[in-house]
Amino acid sequence: MPRILIVEDNDLNRDMLSRRLLKRGYQVDCAVNGAEGLSMASTTRPDLILLDMSLPVIDGWETAARLKGDPDTAIIPVIALTAHAMVPDRERALAAGCDDYDTKPVDLPRLLGKMAALLGYPAPGPQSGDAA
Ligand code: MN
Repeated sequence: MPRILIVEDNDLNRDMLSRRLLKRGYQVDCAVNGAEGLSMASTTRPDLILLDMSLPVIDGWETAARLKGDPDTAIIPVIALTAHAMVPDRERALAAGCDDYDTKPVDLPRLLGKMAALLGYPAPGPQSGDAA
């Protein structure tokens, strides 16, 4: 199964998303800020990155730009996650190099669909606990 890097500073959000992806068979690594995310992207070589935009140390916008500016990580698909459901945020995420965008709180089936599209991998089927 694909290896996913979650970059999220909020403990609850990170733990919940991590648990739900693990339950579906994904391999999951977690980073708690942009600097750690950049470092882990280089060392763990994830198949896809879920990137919170509001992050300490290095924010998500800068993290995305650096990921896409580094030949070693540029090909890794990045899905930006932000609590702001505003169009300018979506455009800003795509301009920073993110491949897709979704809003928090996470709608898991929708996010899995976007992940599958970027991974070229079928989305795992529904499971109990999706509404949690
Ligand atoms: Mn955050």
